[in-house]
Amino acid sequence: MCAGSSAAIGLLDESQWCRDNTFTMENKPCELCPLVDAHVHLDEYPDTWLGPVLRQLEEDRIVSISTAMAPQAYERSLLIQERSEFVLATLGVHPWNAPYFVTRLDEMKEQMGSSPMFGEIGLDFRKVQDGMQHEAQRRVFEFFLSAAKEQGKIVNVHTWGAEAEALELLERHGIERGIMHWYAGPSEPLQRMVARGYYFTFGSELLVSEQIQSLAREVPIGQLLTETDNPGGPQLVFGDAAMPDIVKTVLEALAIVHGMDIAEMAEHIRANMLRLIGDDNRLERLSTALR
Ligand SMILES: [Zn+2]
Repeated sequence: MCAGSSAAIGLLDESQWCRDNTFTMENKPCELCPLVDAHVHLDEYPDTWLGPVLRQLEEDRIVSISTAMAPQAYERSLLIQERSEFVLATLGVHPWNAPYFVTRLDEMKEQMGSSPMFGEIGLDFRKVQDGMQHEAQRRVFEFFLSAAKEQGKIVNVHTWGAEAEALELLERHGIERGIMHWYAGPSEPLQRMVARGYYFTFGSELLVSEQIQSLAREVPIGQLLTETDNPGGPQLVFGDAAMPDIVKTVLEALAIVHGMDIAEMAEHIRANMLRLIGDDNRLERLSTALR
């Protein structure tokens, strides 16, 4: 059961990984649980995967924020949420989808009201080079930011190649609670985001990229979170979609990067997620699963 999950990871000693993670084997207590996956797209798993995926969430108690990239994805996430107490569905329009929704934002207001946080939203000028689309991205992102400010909701943000501009918009809208997902940009905006109290999720690229490891070192322990960005994230990094328990490998990598024990890091991540939730009773489902 140990083999494979960390084979491609230079950062980790696989034998140590297997030994440390025997708790995940059957009949062993789940010592690190609950775990946090603060950015995942459960709706993107094919139906045939969903049963095993949800079983693993239950077994390993992986509390998962299923961030939608479009309103239809949110509807599917809501159905998945009904099947597991470890899932929270949230509405977003991914920057890649912004051109399709920019003229239909008002149609989303009802779904926005029901969504307990917003994501995945943001800007992506790295993958999307077309300047016309950037304008659509800004409009969609700002639409969600102004709703987040008005409704006091957390935002789950994608910032590729547009980190400084995304930060400027977060500042302009006075966003206080944010999760910066898979940050891979320069150090300077990251430092300003840290100063604003935002949290940062690290995922599978942490296992293979020295740049991401160095960024992870710059984030204070009290603002770190784990993610998988499953199934697309691991697919982008390793060529294959992963199961939810890849979050344990990510957690161990984060522990190594910060020079601490995996159990200690797991406790920090759990406490960080609870602190971010605070007394937001719309997120009670998450805080209950985390306790
Ligand atoms: Zn994502």
